[in-house]
Amino acid sequence: MTARQAKSKSQKGRKGTSGFVSLARADWQLPIDLELVEPLVPDLFGALAEYRLRAKPGSVTVNPLLWTDPPHLRFVNLAALSTPGSGNEIIDPKAMLAFSKRYGLLGKKAVNGTWLLEVESGASAEFLITENSLYGPKEFRDLSNARSQGILKYVWRTGDRRAVEAISRFDEESFEVQVDPDDGALVFNVKNLWTFVCLLLVRDRAAGKTAICANPDCQTPYFLKGRKDQKICEADGCNSWVLRQNALRWLRAKRARENKESEK
Ligand SMILES: [Zn+2]
Repeated sequence: MTARQAKSKSQKGRKGTSGFVSLARADWQLPIDLELVEPLVPDLFGALAEYRLRAKPGSVTVNPLLWTDPPHLRFVNLAALSTPGSGNEIIDPKAMLAFSKRYGLLGKKAVNGTWLLEVESGASAEFLITENSLYGPKEFRDLSNARSQGILKYVWRTGDRRAVEAISRFDEESFEVQVDPDDGALVFNVKNLWTFVCLLLVRDRAAGKTAICANPDCQTPYFLKGRKDQKICEADGCNSWVLRQNALRWLRAKRARENKESEK
């Protein structure tokens, strides 16, 4: 099979009812001189409620080929600080800073030649799971508009249709669409990182790839399955956890056998 035939075969499988192949391209710039703006804003109880990142507009367009991990996977696994008793959490500012340096800003306001990203605390995935009866399509959309890590974790864990729909809607500023003059493909130039993160998550969830690591102590429990029956992420700690579990199971079975024999 020639490369052209292989390409047309793989495109055939992706064609929608209208017969278009579509591609998403990253089309935003990396920030420069990115920094955390002091002071960080506490809530009434002294927990971190809000902070801002400030940067200068950069001119380098982000290049997905340089990503070792896709941004949706990295983002849901960023460490979060929880506010005791409130059900809220906020992404650790240092983790957010490192993420933004690498992938760009999730969203931004342009003010006097600088870019600002405001990060607020919001409902954690655990809170949404226990209290989701309070949430309807509008509340989920508000969470999506606030670029909440909680709603993405919640979608990853539950696949709740209302939340999936909330992160599947984009305004006209999210994309610019063109047709590739060479092969007629629809090309979506994605204008911001949040839109790209949501697109990737909805795609991977629909393909049945999103999963939670079985190791209860896993530090990065959200992962993408390479195989259908995969139960743990690929972290070293989780591989050795599985080996320990298997050894324990073997030991227990051996003891049970020995006990049975000594009873005879
Ligand atoms: Zn793991």
